[in-house]
Amino acid sequence: MKIVVVGGGPGGYVAAIKAAMLGAEVTVIEKRRVGGTCLNVGCIPTKALLASSSMLMSVKEAKDFGINIEGEINPDFSAIMDRKDKIVNQLISGIEFLFEKRGVQLINGFGKLVDKNTIEVTKEGGVKEIVKADKIILANGSTPVVPRMFPYDGKVVITSDEVLSLKEIPESLLIVGGGVIGCEIGQFFRTLGTEVTIVEMAEQILINEDKDVAKQLHRQFKKDKIKVITGIGVQTCEVVDNKAVATLSNGKQITAQYALVSVGRRPNLDNSGVEELGIEMERGKIVVNEHLETNVEGIYAIGDLINTPFLAHVASKEGMVAVENALGKSKTVNYLAVPRCVYTEPEVAGVGKTEKQLQAEGIEYHVGQFDFRGLGKAQAIGHFQGFIKILADNDDKIVGAAIVGPHATDLLTELSLAVALELTVEEVGDVIHAHPSLSEGLMEALHDVHGECVHAA
Ligand code: FAD
Repeated sequence: MKIVVVGGGPGGYVAAIKAAMLGAEVTVIEKRRVGGTCLNVGCIPTKALLASSSMLMSVKEAKDFGINIEGEINPDFSAIMDRKDKIVNQLISGIEFLFEKRGVQLINGFGKLVDKNTIEVTKEGGVKEIVKADKIILANGSTPVVPRMFPYDGKVVITSDEVLSLKEIPESLLIVGGGVIGCEIGQFFRTLGTEVTIVEMAEQILINEDKDVAKQLHRQFKKDKIKVITGIGVQTCEVVDNKAVATLSNGKQITAQYALVSVGRRPNLDNSGVEELGIEMERGKIVVNEHLETNVEGIYAIGDLINTPFLAHVASKEGMVAVENALGKSKTVNYLAVPRCVYTEPEVAGVGKTEKQLQAEGIEYHVGQFDFRGLGKAQAIGHFQGFIKILADNDDKIVGAAIVGPHATDLLTELSLAVALELTVEEVGDVIHAHPSLSEGLMEALHDVHGECVHAA
């Protein structure tokens, strides 16, 4: 069985390795370097940069821990960027190594579907190659959306693709969109000294989370002196004297060295051959069935191309499931427990339903909450801002959870497991949690659902 994967991001490269492990002959067609958005201009570079800003914050807080650090503490921006590039390059080499080890063939070029078994690859210099396949997995990923009103030039009006390779710390940065990307990048640059303004059209930042969760991060942004404007949109934006000048819907003007447009992403389907082949689309995304197969038999689509959360871990899981189905299995993805993580300080993480979703769906629910402030470990490490919230239905089943606070993105896993396996509050709350650990907070929040939290304030 010959499987061809278009796109070498976390969806495509994981699919390719899995297919090879299952005995298929595999070719990946990738127009850039493997790793996709995630490794090149997404998850990994942002987290590497945030690790530097977090280190800077820690060093500045050292005195509170009884450590004296002499002299001025300054970020070395080019060293920060070099560190980020080194991490990215290392991980990309790791994927290339795994391809070699598993016998995955990599063709560098732009892949276009010709028919259900044929892809035309345009390589450097316009050279064409025809690649044949028994089954095709489309994993072309996505690109930032820039609404027409923004005079995008990649220099002053930029997207996340460019902001991650700036050459110096900007004096000022206007961020349009207070989603995950806007919040992470905003806090990174603010920590390095940039004047940051986030403009979010919705009533709150992190619109996918509940108000109380977003509010906690908003409060930190206020302390950080990040200007956050919510409930107001950008009406016009122009570049004047090499600066971005935005006029908001309330008439206020904001001038900044850069305007970062982070309002969403759209599937990479220009000139992909998808429409010509009659692959069903809805609102610019490919429609697939529960086995991730399109309406054209033998062609699967995964990751940022389809209407599931735009997240690397979702793309990878879909890649593995699509491959298994292409090889004759009948697998589906469990979307009940998709972790949502924001790597700001404090971190924000959620899984399953939010309160607003439960309310909209008319589902009765019970809430348990515990503040990190009441936790010995959180006090010991000096990070006790935030809380854990558990949502349970009338059958005591854990249907959702949110964490704002230290190590929230790692702590979430226990609750993801609980939501995915449809465990009850009693089942998980009865498990002994280590003391002192941040995970004790999960146990306390679970106990709080039944009004039995021993350390409730
Ligand atoms: P992509 O990663 O976009 O990969 C698609 C690949 O296909 C690309 O390499 C592209 O070059 C290639 N390609 C496209 N068309 C063709 C063609 N015709 N021929 C050949 N090759 C082609 N997600 C998380 O889970 N956690 C995070 O912390 C996180 N942080 C992010 C931060 C930023 C700044 C951004 C922008 C995104 C972040 N994401 C994060 C989202 C995550 O990067 C994406 O959801 C994920 O990369 C999608 O994987 P994919 O394989 O579907 O597509």
